[in-house]
Amino acid sequence: MTESTLPAALRDGIDQLIADTLAPQVEAIDHGQFPEAFLRALGRLGGFGAALPIAQGGLGLDLAAQVEIIAQVARTCGTTAFTVWCQSSCVWYLRQSHNTAAQARYLPALARGELLAGTGMSNAVKHLAGIERINLRARREGTGYRVNGALPWVSNLGPGHLLIAAAALDEGGYLMFAVPSGAEGSTLRACPSFSGLEGSGTYGVHLRNVLVPADDVLADAEDFCAYMQRIKPGFLLTQIGMGVGLVQASIDTIHAANRRLQHVNCYLDDQEDDLARELHALLSTTQALARQDQAAPLLSVLRARAQGSELSLRATQSAALHAGAAGYLMSSPAQRRLREALFVAIVTPALKHLRKEIQALEALQAA
Ligand SMILES: Cc1cc2nc3c(=O)[nH]c(=O)nc-3n(C[C@H](O)[C@H](O)[C@H](O)COP(=O)(O)OP(=O)(O)OC[C@H]3O[C@@H](n4cnc5c(N)ncnc54)[C@H](O)[C@@H]3O)c2cc1C
Repeated sequence: MTESTLPAALRDGIDQLIADTLAPQVEAIDHGQFPEAFLRALGRLGGFGAALPIAQGGLGLDLAAQVEIIAQVARTCGTTAFTVWCQSSCVWYLRQSHNTAAQARYLPALARGELLAGTGMSNAVKHLAGIERINLRARREGTGYRVNGALPWVSNLGPGHLLIAAAALDEGGYLMFAVPSGAEGSTLRACPSFSGLEGSGTYGVHLRNVLVPADDVLADAEDFCAYMQRIKPGFLLTQIGMGVGLVQASIDTIHAANRRLQHVNCYLDDQEDDLARELHALLSTTQALARQDQAAPLLSVLRARAQGSELSLRATQSAALHAGAAGYLMSSPAQRRLREALFVAIVTPALKHLRKEIQALEALQAA
């Protein structure tokens, strides 16, 4: 395994918290319990602000450390790792904003997990990649904006949580903004049941003439394109943490199953050593890119994110095959991880979306 980028005390503290608070709740979370107590406690350890300077309430480490924290959580619970990604992404968005009023209002509370937040960016990210129409529209009103529209599913939400999203402006361009809980005109609606990620606090969000004051604008139309470039590498690289943890856990499952079944499991694809080698390569690449922060080349970042999805799908399937019928029990983490890995490959940017962007960038470079 690639060397840990986390200080030992932090790593051990998070491991202990996972063992005490998260591990006993994993099945309940899979069936719909939101891991609030764990998230609040992880916030107190600094688990959402690894890449945030100490002066802003973070740990003063880097994105590679944030990837590792998300992977540590995903090794036990993919759903919770996704909520950690949501929260740390919101910290990342605030950090990259030039709006010091919004930073002062939200950043320390987000980094400490006192304020939980959802990132409703899938639609905008897909829209900017030419995949779908934008759902939210904004028009100027005084120094602020009025926003209308709906997002079908946004996670890490609940009463008291903050929403961060983007809208197209009537006059042209885009806007990224925060909506505090209880803002007039904003409502959360329950989603239909999912096959996994049920405890991710996922809701449909409806915004009806919601007022976004200037203090809650993270990027205005002038800054939006540059802002998206600033946040995109971190957005993608930290998602790889979810895949890394799932692959690590799958390798653990394969190792355990092979104590009894090596004589027949040896006929399966994606053996423990192969997966460990590929995981090591993915993690090294991801950490090297994460240390470059916003300077990381986008094509390499997209390729690493796609590899994270592909490897998660293969590793979780191999683990389920290695575990056999025992892995098919509802109580088995092997079958849960198959569903979690599928989520890594469908959450924006989905594997198909990544391949579209990779192909477009490769064509651009070849021209
Ligand atoms: C459990 C879960 C949690 C998610 N959390 C977030 C989050 O925190 N933030 C966020 O921005 N996005 C979130 N998403 C959305 C996710 O990132 C993808 O955008 C979504 O899964 C669609 O991607 P796709 O590639 O399948 O879209 P496509 O295949 O291009 O699908 C087309 C569009 O149709 C919509 N659609 C399809 N079926 C339905 C339906 N039954 N009801 C409503 N719309 C539908 C999809 O949203 C999608 O935009 C979540 C999705 C799931 C399943």
